[in-house]
Amino acid sequence: MERVLEGRCALVTGSTSGIGLGIALLYAQAGARVMLNGFGRPQDIARARAEVGAAQGGGEAPYSDADIADPAAVRRMVAEAEATLGRVDILVNNAGIQHVSPVEEFPEAKWDAILAVNLSSNFHAIKAALPGMKARNWGRIVNIASAHGLVASPYKTAYVAAKHGVVGLTKAVALEVARTPITCNAICPGFVRTPLAEAQVKPLAEKHGVSEEAALTDYLLEKQPSKRWVEVEEVARMALYLCGPDSGAVNGAALSIDGGWLAA
Ligand code: NAD
Repeated sequence: MERVLEGRCALVTGSTSGIGLGIALLYAQAGARVMLNGFGRPQDIARARAEVGAAQGGGEAPYSDADIADPAAVRRMVAEAEATLGRVDILVNNAGIQHVSPVEEFPEAKWDAILAVNLSSNFHAIKAALPGMKARNWGRIVNIASAHGLVASPYKTAYVAAKHGVVGLTKAVALEVARTPITCNAICPGFVRTPLAEAQVKPLAEKHGVSEEAALTDYLLEKQPSKRWVEVEEVARMALYLCGPDSGAVNGAALSIDGGWLAA
């Protein structure tokens, strides 16, 4: 593959699994040195570090165990990435959590946690990484929002509020850096095939007494007109485009990758 990120250094939050791991892997294959972050079983984290490390040419990819719900930990993670990689040219704010419940029963602690992880961490990481990008006169900030950053679904108040916040944060930062070679964009995926998302199909089939295929198209992907998953690799390629040589004029955008969800 073309090494369009040769010489670049990237920090990808929540990259021990799912979309973040896919982005970290593709960035490494494109020539970047990448620092990983996220939770998980030690063996899964070790496998992710080895996989991304191999794509970087060998060894283990650097990793931060920062809990990004904690602003001080986010600041330490960015400082650690700058020290380990030499700099942070690319920041991908990807880590995210979800909780589904009617608003009047929504646990307050879940609201606080979702806002902290899905929104406030993006602010703290951008605030910490931007001075270095400005000093080097180049940078890319990619925030993984969601179709739920642009439209709502019931029972996901905290997630929808946080992801709408991410889109707003993206636009405001984009305007602040608009006269520099730094960009800040959001990616808004529909349902992406990750192990966690896929695990929802079987219980849905059992709950509604339908086949797993019908549970996928009629219930899980109800709002996704393509009736197919978005693949992790498709999101990763959009995230690569935003850091590559052809996207300098794309700034403040909320790019949908959702099989037509937002068109409906
Ligand atoms: P995932 O659960 O597979 O990965 C989430 C990652 O975030 C993991 O590495 C996890 O360890 C990490 N993480 C969670 N809390 C953290 C914390 N406090 N500190 C540090 N790391 C933490 O999820 P995913 O589906 O790959 O989602 C990644 C992003 O994409 C999220 O922001 C999610 O909202 C967004 N998204 C996902 C989908 C989808 O269908 N999968 C759709 C739209 C948007």
